[in-house]
Amino acid sequence: MAKRLRKTPERGLNRQVTHVCPTHDELGGSSVTYQLERVQCGKPKCRRWHGPYWYAYWTAGGKTRSLYIGKKLRPAAEVATERNQRRRAAAQ
Ligand SMILES: [Zn+2]
Repeated sequence: MAKRLRKTPERGLNRQVTHVCPTHDELGGSSVTYQLERVQCGKPKCRRWHGPYWYAYWTAGGKTRSLYIGKKLRPAAEVATERNQRRRAAAQ
């Protein structure tokens, strides 16, 4: 049995949206839509469907942005703030 692979849903091949949850949350002045998605693994030896995971989608500067939330639905702004803090800490 191979060692447990880390899940990297951002690099998935295909996506299946299983649930869409529009909210009143805002990010960068745009309303956020939360989607529960299953993602097909991009690793050649896996190609399994992982998830479902929550993703947040919103528009900024005319572009659609997305953010990986995780298994448990949380406010996108909170997840984005934590991610930025982690990046800042890693850069020091
Ligand atoms: Zn996989």
